[in-house]
Amino acid sequence: MPVISQAPDFSEQVLNWFNRHGRRDLPWQKDLTHYRVWVSEVMLQQTQVNTVIPYFNNFMGRFVNIKTLAEADLDEVLYYWTGLGYYARARNLHHTARIIMEEHKGLFPSTVDQLMSLPGIGRSTAGAILALACNQRHPVLDGNVKRVLTRYHGIEGWPGQSAVERELWELAMQHTPEKNVADYTQAMMDLGATVCLRRHPRCEICPVSKDCFANNYSRQHGLPQTKPKNKMPVRKTIFAILENYQGKILLEHRPPAGIWGGLWAFPECFHEDDIQSWVETKFGYSINKLEYKAPIRHTFSHFHLDIMPVHASVKTRNSKINGEDRYCWYEPWGKKYLGMATPVKKLLQEITLNLVSK
Ligand code: SF4
Repeated sequence: MPVISQAPDFSEQVLNWFNRHGRRDLPWQKDLTHYRVWVSEVMLQQTQVNTVIPYFNNFMGRFVNIKTLAEADLDEVLYYWTGLGYYARARNLHHTARIIMEEHKGLFPSTVDQLMSLPGIGRSTAGAILALACNQRHPVLDGNVKRVLTRYHGIEGWPGQSAVERELWELAMQHTPEKNVADYTQAMMDLGATVCLRRHPRCEICPVSKDCFANNYSRQHGLPQTKPKNKMPVRKTIFAILENYQGKILLEHRPPAGIWGGLWAFPECFHEDDIQSWVETKFGYSINKLEYKAPIRHTFSHFHLDIMPVHASVKTRNSKINGEDRYCWYEPWGKKYLGMATPVKKLLQEITLNLVSK
């Protein structure tokens, strides 16, 4: 049976715990601004704190404020995002920075609704920005907070279902105190990230263990309930790694939407048929030498992509792509900053290593 809400006790217990054990040295907690909180929250949307920290520091080293970010090329923003995944986050960040500069004179909007009208900012991120940066009373409901509330209240059902999510938002609102909102918000995120862990929750040190449903009924491992499983489909593709006589590699700028949108990648061939004739027909190149590399599986949130990389030395005399902006001959040893999909970056690193060891 779900535990009845104990709102005042709950937030007090969480805040007392935070005063003793909370994290206060995360990079985005220093020089606290809307901009830094926003970037960190977007990075943390699908990624753990330890992974985010070096990306955040590099990103802030280059894009020190919203103006710098708005003025930068998207390619460079994607370069600093390479490896973090979910690249729509970086494209939205860049787009939103431009909107804030052009339509809000460089100042962040001060209401949840205004923030939510910007690309890539949902209700939880909007709440976190206003709660953490200016102590406004708004609930947050990221993955960590959902886990704590689901277990504490014994909420059945997958939290991605709208009815379950609605219930969690209500509980999150009830628990959010009138004062110390910034500390409470950080405390809830910390509690989920360091105590109420997904696999091995540390209930013995948890400040709310006494009234926690999952702890009292040994349901930690059944809550929150997981998404009903669909078997992940598998898609296949061939990466055509075309190298010219100078050792430069042909890259293609992907369309802005879709997987790896806006990133640079190898041209893709979708059929196992004769790669030689495909390269000739599409690019006008003839192949000198062809090498099939080890296949790679890259997993997205909703499908696996099985990649067959084919490395070919090509003669480029009759090029059909001269003057086409969406292609470039990339120097793997050079310093050009391009946003790339992770498997593309790894394959280019391998090729560069081979060049060095030759
Ligand atoms: S008692 Fe355990 S399950 Fe309950 S909120 Fe704390 S860590 Fe999570």
